[in-house]
Amino acid sequence: MEQTGLGLYITKNFNSKNYKGNTIRMAVVDLAELKGYPLNFVCVLPRHVVLKGNLQSKFSDKFGDNSQGVAKELLNRALLTEDDLDIKKEIMDRLKLLDPKPKNIAECIGCGKDFEYRKYNYGRQKACRECRTKKRLNREWK
Ligand SMILES: [Zn+2]
Repeated sequence: MEQTGLGLYITKNFNSKNYKGNTIRMAVVDLAELKGYPLNFVCVLPRHVVLKGNLQSKFSDKFGDNSQGVAKELLNRALLTEDDLDIKKEIMDRLKLLDPKPKNIAECIGCGKDFEYRKYNYGRQKACRECRTKKRLNREWK
C-alpha cells in the first residue's frame, strides 16, 4: 500500500462509568514522524470506515476510495504486534465489518466459528470440519 508510514495507536479505557465494558479507540499515526503521539496524530480510525450518504469521517476524507484497503492494512498489521486480547478482538471485529462474509461462509453450530460450507442436494453442512471430526469420534456430540 502507499501509506507505508502509517500505523495505529490503540488505547483502551477500562470500565469507565459512562460505558459498559472497555472502550477501545484507534488513531492513525504517522510513523515517519518521530515526534510521538499525539503530535504524529493523523486522524481517528472510525469503526465504520465506509459511510453512506453525507456522513463522512476524516479518515474517509483523507483516503477516499482507498479507505477500506488502508484500514484493512493498518488493522492487519496491528494484529501482528498487538497482544492485548480485548484489543485483538476489537481488531478482528473491525476487520469483519470491512469484509462482509461471502455467501458460502456460515457459523458452525458446534463451535460458532466461521467455516466454508458445502452444499448438498438435501441441504448444506452445518458444522465445521473440526466439529464434524469430533462428532465422529464422540457420539455424545449432537
Ligand atoms: Zn465447529
